[in-house]
Amino acid sequence: MPATPSANRLQNQIALITGGSSGIGAGVAKAMAAEGATVIVNFAHSTDEAAAVVKEIADAGGQAVSFQADVSKEDDVLRMFDFVREKFGTLHILVNNSGIQMDAKFVDMTLEQWQRVIDVNLTGQFLCAREAAREFLRRGPQPEISSALGKIICMSSVHEVIPWAGHVNYATSKGGIMLLMKSMAQELAPEKIRINSIAPGAIATPINLTARDTPEEEKSLLTLIPYGRIGQPLDIGKVAVWLASDESDYVTGTSIFADGGMTLYPGFADNG
Ligand code: NAD
Repeated sequence: MPATPSANRLQNQIALITGGSSGIGAGVAKAMAAEGATVIVNFAHSTDEAAAVVKEIADAGGQAVSFQADVSKEDDVLRMFDFVREKFGTLHILVNNSGIQMDAKFVDMTLEQWQRVIDVNLTGQFLCAREAAREFLRRGPQPEISSALGKIICMSSVHEVIPWAGHVNYATSKGGIMLLMKSMAQELAPEKIRINSIAPGAIATPINLTARDTPEEEKSLLTLIPYGRIGQPLDIGKVAVWLASDESDYVTGTSIFADGGMTLYPGFADNG
């Protein structure tokens, strides 16, 4: 899918994308860089994947660096924010995107499976958002760059509202992100920090490969999507750019569902 022509809506802004080395995070990193942001591509393990995203951005004329950190570890997150401050002076945009699934039937789920998903998906978002907010407050307003003091975008999921059997750790983490986001947004709006979520439906990325790797599975997935196609990372990148830009300056504390209608209860369509 081609990127929309750049309007430089994020010019002179520094954006940190957690889990920016693959899938949705890579799509967001490329979309933000195409709008003039300097992007820090955080990654957990895959140095090569992160380097490839950085190279693709540089080849397209953008600015990007990568940084390895486990978002569930406080020391790693503090180290990452020190790096951002030392290298770029400050931060304007955080995209809290890192996330994992460790699926199991509820009765078989181990404490480790439960805890790791909560640690990465929920505690990771808390740690990064706290450091971002601290940095926005330390730096102070730069109205020539952005109307808001800073912007935080939390990658949630349709599963912040749709229960998901066999994935209770994941759905719980996303439900938690909804109230983490709203509570942070309420507390920090007076400081002019805007915080919103994107709740994607089914986007073609490594996280859900097993749910769509045969034609039958893809067909079954499409029955859940009234708009009739699986989403692409750039579908989410475009929403993230808008949420980070001044075009959405009056938007805070909301979840934008980018899901092709998955949350419209498509199973009820023929049962009226
Ligand atoms: P993905 O597996 O490609 O991306 C997940 C990213 O998180 C990877 O870059 C990975 O390196 C990173 N990550 C994992 N553990 C980490 C850690 N401890 N520290 C730092 N980074 C870590 O999958 P994706 O679909 O691109 O997922 C991105 C986000 O979008 C996740 O939060 C996911 O829950 C959410 N989401 C995805 C979909 C979908 O259909 N793909 C739907 C709804 C929500």
